Amino acid sequence: MINYRLVVIALSVLLLFAVMPLSSLAQRTTGRVNPTSTIPSPKSFLGFAPGDDRTIADWNQITSYFGQLDKASDRVVVQSLGLSTLKRPLIVAIISARENILALDKYKGIQQQLADPRKVATPLLRDRLIATGKTVVAVSCSIHSTEIVASQMSMQLAYDLASAQDPDTREILQNTILLLIPSPNPDGVDIVANWYRKSLGTPYEGREPPELYHNYAGHDDNRDWFMLNLKETQIITRLFWQDWFPEIVYDVHQQGSNGSRFFIPPFYDPPNPNINPLLLRQVGLIGHKVAADLQSSGFQGVLTDALYDTWWHGGFRTAPYFHNSIGILSEAASARLMTPSTVTADQLTRSSTRGMRNATEATTNFPDPWPAGTWRPRNIMDMELIAARAILSLAAKYRTTYLQNFYELGRHNIEQPTKPTEPIAYLIPAGLSRDEAVAKLVASLIAQGVEVFRLDSELHVSYGPQILQRTNTVSEKLGTYRTIVANTTAMQEVPAGSYLVFLSQPQRTNVLALFEPQNYPNRLTGTGEAERPYDVAGWTLPLQLGVEAPAIMSIRETPTERKLTLLKNENEVRTDLALPLRNSEASPIRNPIKASVRIGIYKGSIGNMDEGWTRYVFDTFNVPYSSIKDGDIKQGNLASKFDVILLPSQRSREIIEGNAAGSLPAEYTGGIGEGGVSNLKDFVNSGGTLICFDGSCELAIKQFNLPIKNVLEGLRSSDFYCPGSIVSLELDNKNPIATTLPTNIPAYFINSSAFATTDANVRVIARYAKDNVLRSGWLLGEDTLRGQIALAELSQGKGRIVLFAFRPQHRGQTWGTLPLIWNAIASSVR
Ligand SMILES: [Zn+2]
Repeated sequence: MINYRLVVIALSVLLLFAVMPLSSLAQRTTGRVNPTSTIPSPKSFLGFAPGDDRTIADWNQITSYFGQLDKASDRVVVQSLGLSTLKRPLIVAIISARENILALDKYKGIQQQLADPRKVATPLLRDRLIATGKTVVAVSCSIHSTEIVASQMSMQLAYDLASAQDPDTREILQNTILLLIPSPNPDGVDIVANWYRKSLGTPYEGREPPELYHNYAGHDDNRDWFMLNLKETQIITRLFWQDWFPEIVYDVHQQGSNGSRFFIPPFYDPPNPNINPLLLRQVGLIGHKVAADLQSSGFQGVLTDALYDTWWHGGFRTAPYFHNSIGILSEAASARLMTPSTVTADQLTRSSTRGMRNATEATTNFPDPWPAGTWRPRNIMDMELIAARAILSLAAKYRTTYLQNFYELGRHNIEQPTKPTEPIAYLIPAGLSRDEAVAKLVASLIAQGVEVFRLDSELHVSYGPQILQRTNTVSEKLGTYRTIVANTTAMQEVPAGSYLVFLSQPQRTNVLALFEPQNYPNRLTGTGEAERPYDVAGWTLPLQLGVEAPAIMSIRETPTERKLTLLKNENEVRTDLALPLRNSEASPIRNPIKASVRIGIYKGSIGNMDEGWTRYVFDTFNVPYSSIKDGDIKQGNLASKFDVILLPSQRSREIIEGNAAGSLPAEYTGGIGEGGVSNLKDFVNSGGTLICFDGSCELAIKQFNLPIKNVLEGLRSSDFYCPGSIVSLELDNKNPIATTLPTNIPAYFINSSAFATTDANVRVIARYAKDNVLRSGWLLGEDTLRGQIALAELSQGKGRIVLFAFRPQHRGQTWGTLPLIWNAIASSVR
C-alpha cells in the first residue's frame, strides 16, 4: 500500500531541491554559507550515481574520487596505506569533524592508551581519556570483490558525511572518527570491474569472473586475519591493531540471491567461548538497531540470529572480538554484479538452515519476508547506507559507553585472576629445528599486537594439560572431552632463546583462541546429520605451523629473577634465529628444494582457491614453478617440459570438464578432457611425478584405476564429519618424503579423504593416528578415520604418483606439513 502522506512530503522535498540551489538550501538550514558546497558528488565525478544499474566504478575511479574529497572537504583525510598483492594502492578515508581531523594524532594516542590499560596510570586519567576520546568506527567494503556494491556505496557514504549539515550528521562527525576502507582488496575491484564491463550486453552479463578475485586467496582473502599471509591483511592489521584500535568494525558483504534480503547480527550458535559476553551483547544491540532502522525505512526481508556464527577466529569481523572490539557483519542479497535480477516466489529459499526456517515464512528473527520481485544494486546500496548510518549514530550517541567498555575489556584481560587449572603462559621452545615456522608464528603474533617475550636465560616451569581427547558414545554420537593431564608438579628447565606468550595482556582472549585446541560442540540436525559450522572448526595456530607450544602452569623464578625481553617487532625473531629479515628480493627465504626440478602447478578454467594458496606457498618459499593450463595438458608431451606436475585439490569432474559450454565465453570453458587424462598418464609412465592434493586424488585413483579407495566417499555426515580440523598423523620417516619430520605430526583435514588398499605395492607414508586422532576442531565418527592412509606413493611405469589425502598447504597456514610437499618434489630427482 502507498502511504500518500509520505509521498506528498517526498514530492515537496523534491520540489524544494528543484527550485532552490543547494547553497541557499544549506544557508537556510544552517544559517550560514555552507562551506562544503563545492564538494563534488560521486555522480558529478563519475558521470553516474554509485549503485545505478549496469554501472561500475573501478579502483582508479574510486581512489581518484576519494582524492577529490580529500582536497575539497576539511572533514576528510585520505591516506595511502601501502600496496596490494598486485601493487594497487590500498587507502583509508578518515572522516570526522574538522576539529577532530586537525587532532588525529591526539585521538590515535587516546585509543592506544585505552587499548592497553597498563598505560593508564590513574582513574582520573582514564576518565579524562574517556571524556575526550572519540568512538573509532571502521567500515570496510567488498573484501569479497563480486560482492561489489559496497565498494560503490563507499563513495556515497563519504560524500554524505562530507557534505551534510543536519544535526544527526554533525553529531556523528563530532563524536566519532570513521575509518572508511573502500575495499581491502583493490585488485579484486578491478578484476570484477574489467570483467563486468567486458561482459555487459553479452549473454554473460552479470556472471562472476572466471578467475580468483584475489591473486592467491580468492574468497579466502577473508580467512587470513590471524595468519597474516596476505599483503592486504598485514596492512589493515597494522592500521587497526597497532595504530587506531577501532571500537567497532563493520564488514560489509553480500550473500546469495534467493534467501533473506539482508542479514545482520545477533549471530547464530555456537559462540566462541573466548569472546567476552559483553561483546556479544554489544554486537546484538548494534544489529537490532540496524534491523529496526531498515524496517522503519520500509525494507523487508531482514534476518537476524541465523546462518553466521562467531565460532571461527580469522575473519575481518571475527578477529576484532579478540582485540576487545565489536565486529559487525552484514550480508545483503546479491543482484547479478551491478545488473538487476528477478527473483520469483518459487525461487525463494524453502529449506531450513541454521536458524532460518525459510525465505517466505515470518518468524521472530525474520518478521517481514520479502515477497519476491526485482532486486537492484540500488536496493543493496540503500540498505548498506542505512546500516552504516545506524552504526555511526549509535557510536556517536553512546560514545563514552563504547570507550568505557573497550577499556574495561582490556583491563579485565590483564587483571583476570587465573584459576589454578588455567595456564599463565604458552611456550614456544627453542631448538625445534623448525626455525622458519617458529619465526612465522612469532611474527604473526607480534604483527597483530600480541606480546611475545624472549628468554635471555633459562627458566623452570611446570607444564599443563597437553591434549584434549574426544570420547564418543556410540549410540548418540554426543562426545565429551576427556583431558589428559600431564604431570603438572615437576619443574622442567626451558632453555634461553625460547619464547613466552603470557596470558596477562590486553589480548588475553586472542592468545587463548590461537593457542588452545578448539573443542567444537557436537551439533546435529533433527535428522541426526552434522550441522555444519559457518567456517572451519579448528585452527590452533602452533599446531598448524607444526610447532608444539605447551601451556605453562607456573614459573619457579619470581618476576624479578626472570630475564625476559619484549620483542618490539617481527624482525627481531628473524635476527634471533639468524634467518633473512623478511621474504624480499634482497633477502629471500631459501628454496627448500635443493635440486633443480621442473614443476608445473595445474590451473584450470574454474577459479580454485587451493590452486591459489599452492602458488602462494611456492612463491613464499621461492620454489620456481610454471602454471599449467587446460590447453597445455591437452597438448601433451608433458614429460619434455616437466619433472613434477601438481594437481591442487579439486574435484575430478571439474578438472576434466571445466566450466560448462555456454556458461561463459568459449575461452573459459572445458577442462583437460579425456585426452588430457591420457596425457597425464603418459607423463607418469614416461618417468614424471604426479602429486595430488585431497580432492584431485579422485582423478588419479579413478582415471588411472589405482588399487586404492577413499573410505570416506559417500558417507553421510551422521556417520562421519570433519569440517576443517587438525588431526594427528603417524609417519613412516624411513620414506624419503617423511624423512625430515617427527613420527607424529598435526595435519589439516577439511572434509578431506582417507585411503585404504590391499595392494602391497602402495607405499604408505602417513596414516591417520590410531588413537587421539583429533587435535583441534570437530570430528564425528573417529573410528572411520583411525589408521587409514593419509599419504601414499605408487610407482606407475617409469614414474610415480603421490597422493595426499589431506591439504598439506591449507590456506597457506599449515607450515607444519609443507616439508612433505618439498620432500615429495625433491625425491622425484634420482
Ligand atoms: Zn563475503
